[in-house]
Amino acid sequence: SPLIELKETSYFYANSKTRALDNVNLRIYPGEKIALLGANGAGKSTLFKHLNGILKPSSGQVIVNGQKISRKNIKEVRQTVGIVFQDPNDQILAPTVEQDVAFGPMNMGLPIKEVESRVSEALELVHMSGFEERSPHHLSGGQKKLVAIAGILAMRPQVVVLDEPTAGLDPLTANKVISVIEKMNKDMGITVILSTHDVDIVPLFADRVYVIHHGRIEAEGTAREIFKKH
Ligand code: ADP
Ligand code: ADP
Repeated sequence: SPLIELKETSYFYANSKTRALDNVNLRIYPGEKIALLGANGAGKSTLFKHLNGILKPSSGQVIVNGQKISRKNIKEVRQTVGIVFQDPNDQILAPTVEQDVAFGPMNMGLPIKEVESRVSEALELVHMSGFEERSPHHLSGGQKKLVAIAGILAMRPQVVVLDEPTAGLDPLTANKVISVIEKMNKDMGITVILSTHDVDIVPLFADRVYVIHHGRIEAEGTAREIFKKH
């Protein structure tokens, strides 16, 4: 059964007349690697903000682990589905890398020893061991992205959602980020959903692709199927 399901989900921003999401249906199964492909303004970020209850649909449903997101399960949902935002500066909250990665697991109320071991494990996974005492604000864009990913991994989510994870990165750094994402999927069994407007990323990465345009899902299939049609 799907880990995440959107059923006829639509969303209007209060100050806008158009639908940012228009009757979206999708199903994501455990262990999948999904790419959401669409131009700027297509609705990718809006869709992602529905996956862990940052936004509540204007109509339709968002179901995680068989349960509709509600006030009762929102905390659980946020631990199940971790989101890495496009701009790492939105996610950096602490003066050191170590404290930054510790923020999520601390918030979960885990014992300090457990927090420490999760932080060092997560930093190792993203190849950022040794940066513990550094200020995250002074890292490169790629390093900030990796620290943001570590912060999400330290919460041990079932699903990691990444909004445009390679945007603004040079090709070498982008490949490094993609290989970390591959590793969390293959070795850790994490379901991964990423958005991109870069068609070169998709065949490299995705088992399955959704194409979004004007808030609507216009196509769904394997990368091969999608690029044959478009
Ligand atoms: P993408 O992530 O694909 O670039 P978004 O989800 O950010 O697209 O935006 C989808 C649509 O919703 C766009 O038309 C955008 O202008 C609009 N939008 C996004 N955020 C807001 C907001 N806070 N208020 C009003 N409209 C918004
Ligand atoms: P109903 O459909 O009966 O209005 P919902 O299940 O939509 O009830 O919501 C029940 C409560 O959970 C409401 O107070 C709502 O604000 C909250 N809620 C629902 N979805 C979300 C969400 N995605 N994020 C945060 N709170 C939510």
